[in-house]
Amino acid sequence: MNRTIEPFFERGSWIRQMPKVELHMHLDGSLLPETVFELAAEQGISLPARSTKELLPYMQVDGSCTSLTEYLSKFAFTTLFLQTRESLERAACEAVEQAAGEGCRYVEVRFAPQLHRERGLSCEEAVHHVIAGLKRGEQQYGCRAQAIVICMRHHSTALNREAIEAAAVYSGRGVAAVDLAGDEAGYPASLFRDIFILAHRKGLPVTIHAGEAAGPDNIYTSVMKLGASRIGHGVRLKEDPAIRELIRRRRVPLEMCPVSNIQTKAVADWSGYPIRDYFDSGIPITVNTDNPGVSGTSLTREYGILAELFHFTRQELSQLVLNAADAAFLGEHDKSALKAELGQELDEWKKLA
Ligand SMILES: [Zn+2]
Repeated sequence: MNRTIEPFFERGSWIRQMPKVELHMHLDGSLLPETVFELAAEQGISLPARSTKELLPYMQVDGSCTSLTEYLSKFAFTTLFLQTRESLERAACEAVEQAAGEGCRYVEVRFAPQLHRERGLSCEEAVHHVIAGLKRGEQQYGCRAQAIVICMRHHSTALNREAIEAAAVYSGRGVAAVDLAGDEAGYPASLFRDIFILAHRKGLPVTIHAGEAAGPDNIYTSVMKLGASRIGHGVRLKEDPAIRELIRRRRVPLEMCPVSNIQTKAVADWSGYPIRDYFDSGIPITVNTDNPGVSGTSLTREYGILAELFHFTRQELSQLVLNAADAAFLGEHDKSALKAELGQELDEWKKLA
């Protein structure tokens, strides 16, 4: 099943029209090369490239990416330009614009506020300006947006506590949840118990990157010990039947990101990618981009891959969108409204065949 995925770009238009939901999209992984040029000029940062083409290798992985660590190295470059209030607002607004362009009716954009403080912003200010950008995007592009605040695995407990505290200030006012990201293989989930106890005390929902660069034990710990109600990726869940059954029975949504999952080598290639198997066995999977910029992908392309390589029908693709709406970190009232709107739109979309 090692076929090229390029034809999706030509055949993607019917999928582009499908109304969608994006739950796993990183702010610093969504930055556009054109925006980097403008931000660099505004901020007096010299660039190692003179064209967007020359810039791409610094901010996007190619087919030779061999690990999550290599994948994450691209973020050291993109975060250089996201250290001011203006740049955070702009990047957040443009993330909503990108999601809306893919047909999203709702998007959750995640970022680690502690990575945006090199020019003097406080943690709380970083959160504030991302939310301001998301709100501007909502108004301009008609796609509802909320933020997820990320704790980093390599950061100290003090820095991560501060991120949780800042998230709590904006809980329900732009911040939907908190997350844990970074080098999963080097820092197991069990190290972060105190951080997520604090998140629960603050009433913040939790999603955690797990089962991407480390095994299913991390998924188990994230759900059972850290209180995650969603899992980022979860690709390696298949390696432990008992944990897999637990996740299925508890109906824990997986935020799967197909192109990224192949690039980071969560599985070796498409033939080992378990998305069809998870879907058929009743695990509530969702489809996301992770990082449209760094991965060079789009939500349309991700769904296209499911249609092309895994033979998902329109009905099944619609179910995935509804899974995402169901897993959204929204209050019951807002979630019901989103699901009703999507249900109606998807019924129309299915008739277009
Ligand atoms: Zn991620």
